[in-house]
Amino acid sequence: MDAAIKVNNIIKDYGNVRALNGISFDVKNAEMFGLVGPDGAGKTTTIRLLCGLLTPTNGSAELFGFDLTKDRNKIQKEIGYLSQKFSLYGDLTIDENIEFFADLHGVKDYKHRRDELLEFTRLTPFRTRLADNLSGGMKQKLALACTLIHKPKIIFLDEPTTGVDPVSRRDFWKILSNLQKDGVTIFMSTPYLDEAERCNRVVLLNDGKVLSFDTPKNVKASIKKSIVEIVCTPIIKAYKLLKEKSNYEVQMFGDRLNLALDDYQKDFTQIENLLVENGIQMIDHRIIPTSLENVFIHLINEIKEVSS
Ligand code: ADP
Repeated sequence: MDAAIKVNNIIKDYGNVRALNGISFDVKNAEMFGLVGPDGAGKTTTIRLLCGLLTPTNGSAELFGFDLTKDRNKIQKEIGYLSQKFSLYGDLTIDENIEFFADLHGVKDYKHRRDELLEFTRLTPFRTRLADNLSGGMKQKLALACTLIHKPKIIFLDEPTTGVDPVSRRDFWKILSNLQKDGVTIFMSTPYLDEAERCNRVVLLNDGKVLSFDTPKNVKASIKKSIVEIVCTPIIKAYKLLKEKSNYEVQMFGDRLNLALDDYQKDFTQIENLLVENGIQMIDHRIIPTSLENVFIHLINEIKEVSS
């Protein structure tokens, strides 16, 4: 079976709040899938729906060919869910926490699997340490090990690296790639666009709607613009000026501006003149590869323009 998940036009309302507004996509078996979007986009709602913890207001979804609402019991044992609020027991050791989750999932002969998971997450040397005394990154790896104890075919990870230090993030990603090599489907939400780049396919979600759904490469190729990065001073003045006086989309990233130009040769001279005429000093500029962040901002701006 090729598709692990099929989502068909799902709407989810919480009272008057429409959290998901007709989302559709599919996830292939053993792919690393990224659900990417800012706070409030609908990521947690999507994951909780797919884990069978919420019922859609409208629309349907299938997991491994089973209907999300009708076959909930069959689906449950195939999935692992690492929620943002996943709680370990601080007064239990690493070993005891895994044992607890094995019990919860009715896994009887868990000891071999536990050893495997501890090796896999490189937690073996710390197995007798209380969860309360682990670093943030180690806690997250233990939570993942607990999520995997019943050998789920798919795991849902809701912003698993938020608040985790960069070294542990890298470590965590390595573990996820190894899981994927073992054939596990990985569905993760993230607000980080650099993480989204590592996924096989992504959905860019904003305000409960799918803005784009494809491989990161194709999503980036979908905007037919040259992105020019400019370093100039004073930067805030330049940003405001370009926003008000030029027809080009301008984005500010720290001490740099990104401009999305239709025709670099033609448009850049105009930009340069505008800046210089207004007393802004151009320090450097270069064409840079389009990032997912550029695409995201571009698509959100397009929507704003259409609705204004
Ligand atoms: P994300 O995970 O991307 O931050 P969520 O799925 O948590 O987004 O939220 C999507 C939208 O639904 C937001 O506007 C949020 O305020 C709203 N929402 C989420 N949960 C509830 C709830 N239990 N009751 C009312 N509104 C909710």
